[in-house]
Amino acid sequence: MNAEVTSKRLLIDGVWTDPVSGEWFETRNPATGELLAQIAKGGSADIDAAVAAARRAFESGPWPKFSPADRQALILRLADLLEAHGEEFARLDTTEMGSPIRHTRGSVALLVDLLRYYAGIARSIEGSVPAPSDPALFVATVKEPVGVCGAIIPWNGPLWASVLKLGPVLASGCTLVLKPAEDASLAPLRLAELALEAGVPAGVFNVVTGFGADAGAALAAHPGVDKIAFTGSEATGRRIVQASAGNLKRLSLELGGKSPNVVFADADLEKAAQMAVVAAFANSGQVCSAGTRLFVERSVHREFAQEVARIAAALKIGNGLDPETDLGPLVSARQLERVSTHMADALTAGAEAISGGGRLSGEGLDAGFFFPPTVLLGAQDDMRCVREEIFGPILATLSFDSEEEAIARANATEFGLGAGLWTRDLGRAHRLSRALKAGSVWVNCYNRIDPAVSSGGIKASGQGREYGRQHVEEHFQTKSIWIDTSV
Ligand code: ADP
Repeated sequence: MNAEVTSKRLLIDGVWTDPVSGEWFETRNPATGELLAQIAKGGSADIDAAVAAARRAFESGPWPKFSPADRQALILRLADLLEAHGEEFARLDTTEMGSPIRHTRGSVALLVDLLRYYAGIARSIEGSVPAPSDPALFVATVKEPVGVCGAIIPWNGPLWASVLKLGPVLASGCTLVLKPAEDASLAPLRLAELALEAGVPAGVFNVVTGFGADAGAALAAHPGVDKIAFTGSEATGRRIVQASAGNLKRLSLELGGKSPNVVFADADLEKAAQMAVVAAFANSGQVCSAGTRLFVERSVHREFAQEVARIAAALKIGNGLDPETDLGPLVSARQLERVSTHMADALTAGAEAISGGGRLSGEGLDAGFFFPPTVLLGAQDDMRCVREEIFGPILATLSFDSEEEAIARANATEFGLGAGLWTRDLGRAHRLSRALKAGSVWVNCYNRIDPAVSSGGIKASGQGREYGRQHVEEHFQTKSIWIDTSV
């Protein structure tokens, strides 16, 4: 291993630890190819150690004695530290996975707010006192933390996903073993350093970096883990469900999407076109709720698609560290290969690219995995580019004639994560927001997120909700306590 490159170890039981395998893997900047660090290749033995530490921390030591007020104070300290190191985190994510610095800065601000929201929820968890038929009985339901949680996260928002998994764990009094994605481990590891600094006790937050097939699979199957939260692809989600069956873990899954964005001719078309670009191309399309099927009422379809292509083609593509950059590179050679394969398939199937269309090269771009925002005309509902999640900057535009047709075709997908709707007709806004089968529907906006508002998928997009009170509640189990007062 090159001694000049930083090596990042595993955090197990509050101690930075070498992997049992003795193996390391590289992480590189997808815009330049620069080697950023060597990351510990954790495997099942490291997962065993981390789960054991998380169990000990859950059952004994200082953590079970933390009151809700203590947990709140801890999360607030972590939020303050994250805020103080905000620029560092924005740069870490940008250099490791390519997202533009404006985007990663915005994420940090939201995540600080999210932690403060969870800190508040930590103080307001309540049980109930139901009234049984027998008046001699006193019954109370109490909420108890689920236990040891495992989180397996993707690379498209490494800090984002880490904070989203850690916040409710700390708010509820659970403990966590986090497995970052192999393409983006740096922000989760730095967050772990801040967590220790904030006073998170040893074993409460463990980070085991490594690959999905070994560290990830071992965590999902581990009999000592009570709950798994997974964010990633649908295919891997299915494997996690199977692996978790051994001890019937509680599961929350945030999987893929092929979200429809439906534009009626009566909408504010200028705003709709601008937001259609953001919906499809933010983070280079590497967003699970990206609006990748753009349904436009036939009377305005062609003109609208051209306008979307015009706005997309004007986006500035480059190294995410440049504050002017709108779109950074894709995260990896593998992702570029996937997106390019989808692109070739769409063209072969008969779609036409009216912007973008293939890997970008040229000065400052050759060393990175740059793919331009691509708008397709002439796509059909049965084409792969309309049915499958691409996770890259490719947008299919489709036209429709009636409200009924728009609903039926928007819903004709195995996914159900988000849906956009653009109209000035109030009745239609109400009708469609109920008719669209998705975990979130955005009317005259897209992909809005707020700490207080839960979000999640239906159908093959997942189960469970994140953000909001419900996210924290899902880290508790309910116990009914029966007391016979006649004794
Ligand atoms: P991608 O193919 O883009 O990496 P994945 O959904 O496979 O998307 O990855 C999301 C996360 O799931 C990553 O942390 C990855 O390491 C992990 N992962 C991949 N395969 C498995 C698996 N079989 N079991 C558990 N985790 C996995």
